[in-house]
Amino acid sequence: MDVDAGHGAALGGALPAQPGELPLTRRLRSLLSWPANDADPVTQLVRTHRGIHSSADASVLRRAYTIAENMHRGQFRKSGEPYITHPLAVAQICADLGMDTTTLVAALLHDTVEDTRYTLQALSEDFGPEVAHLVDGVTKFDKAFYGKAAEAETIRKMIIAAGKDVRVLIIKLADRLHNMRTLGVRSAASRERIARKTQEVLVPLCDRLGIQTLKRDLDDVVLLHLEPDEHARLARHVHDRPGWDAYLDDVVAQAKVALRRSRVDAEVSVRPRHLYSIWKDTVAGGHAVPYDLPRIVIVVDGPATDCYAALGAVHGRWRPVPGRFKDFIASPKNNLYRSLHTSVCGPQDRTVEVLIRTREMHRCAEYGVAADFRFPRAATGASNTDQLSWLRRVLDWEQEAPDPAQFLQSLRCDLAEAQIQVVADGRQVVLPAGATPVDLAYELGTERGDHCLAARINGRLAPLASELDEGDVVEIYTESDAESGFEADVAPRGPRREWLDFVKSPHAQMQISRWFTEHVEPGISIADKVRLGRATIGLALRTHNRGLASDLPLLRLSEELGYPDLETLLVAVFDRAVEPDTVVRQLIDLVDHRQ
Ligand code: MN
Repeated sequence: MDVDAGHGAALGGALPAQPGELPLTRRLRSLLSWPANDADPVTQLVRTHRGIHSSADASVLRRAYTIAENMHRGQFRKSGEPYITHPLAVAQICADLGMDTTTLVAALLHDTVEDTRYTLQALSEDFGPEVAHLVDGVTKFDKAFYGKAAEAETIRKMIIAAGKDVRVLIIKLADRLHNMRTLGVRSAASRERIARKTQEVLVPLCDRLGIQTLKRDLDDVVLLHLEPDEHARLARHVHDRPGWDAYLDDVVAQAKVALRRSRVDAEVSVRPRHLYSIWKDTVAGGHAVPYDLPRIVIVVDGPATDCYAALGAVHGRWRPVPGRFKDFIASPKNNLYRSLHTSVCGPQDRTVEVLIRTREMHRCAEYGVAADFRFPRAATGASNTDQLSWLRRVLDWEQEAPDPAQFLQSLRCDLAEAQIQVVADGRQVVLPAGATPVDLAYELGTERGDHCLAARINGRLAPLASELDEGDVVEIYTESDAESGFEADVAPRGPRREWLDFVKSPHAQMQISRWFTEHVEPGISIADKVRLGRATIGLALRTHNRGLASDLPLLRLSEELGYPDLETLLVAVFDRAVEPDTVVRQLIDLVDHRQ
């Protein structure tokens, strides 16, 4: 459908028929089979989608909805609602994120193959292979068939599918978010079990992909199911903070003045923390009352250097709280989050947190990999590709991992929230908590890992099994450093098996195991050597245009040459203890002489 953006938003049919209606609107309305009112269940979805992608094709969304509705008809959710409300809500979450039409179509259909008679093939014929790939990626393995392995198999399959197309993971996250929001009808035990699984794998995956908008929602709904009382207490706290809004308005206004004086163009807004984030800080600090500082975000119009100018303006206005400044622009987090963080002593001597970032950093912080879909023409830089390179590395271990359970274990470990940053080769490197110099060496490169010999931590030689701490400055020495004069006993080349006992990162574990798989001496048996020795003689004879009719001449030669038996001669030929050509010449002499 060819409509301009202005009318596009109205295409959902929310407008009642009016006498003075534009002919174009009327014509479009007649093209749609849906009644033009809010009773149309797809209206909101189309409106959201068109609000972000003005020229998107709405007809395919309606077609997908119609098929999904048809297939799920007669199925109900535990809450008693018609099943179709679920895929529609999942598609709405994807639309709010700014995902493309293909994602929304797949979201509408995401449970059809698993739960209805609709087949993947029919879906592929109706909507194309791209949609089919996305739906297949989120389709669970049958528990009845796979038993206990089903969960691990399903996650592994989803990660592989996401390696080809990351939209698989985005649909899965939206699916889980809606399921978690509608868990209310289940038992407390089953709610807790699902919440824990979500917290263990999906939330950290969401974090790695940098989709903070989705992660905040997931965090809060996990808290709701794991700590319902705490969730209620914090929700009440956030709801009735007296004087909070007026205070923050004042902070924002004063920050704007300070920025203008420093000639920094920027938007300043209030940045409330989500419940889970307040809860985490409250627990971590052992606070009796919710620990919740006022927070603002400054989004500068200009380049990254303007962030530092804005920081100067803020610190000039309010005294910074010592030890609270963090430069995630110079050292981005492992999910490539970039911003400056500081805390200042704000009006009325209250501590205020300030985040400072560019527009592009802000988009990336909010939407992560989804930013590519939400802002298709915007140059989001190489950053999102890097978020995907993490996913690709996960796929590497997937190939190394012997079974899905082990893969899931490695994934959990890699996604573990506890992380440290150390300095190596003059840059910050993020490692799992408890990591050792060997983990670091592999993080710096496979070669460095395979050949690391020794490490200096903060200038002192330390065992390779030492646990690194936040902020350590680490130098890794490899075998090639040893050759160039580093004094250490030169260990056998390659990694040591003992390393597997202490390395923390799945990446290092996989690389060490890979080395041992590749470096086991190829097991050539005596029988192989005999066979290959015989073949070598056969080839050498052929260069003399001769062949062997039987083993007899060879047997005689082996006796003449003093070998205990023919096999020993053939092994000697294979091992090049004697030259094949020498053997062949003697063999020809022997045969020709006797005849
Ligand atoms: Mn679902």
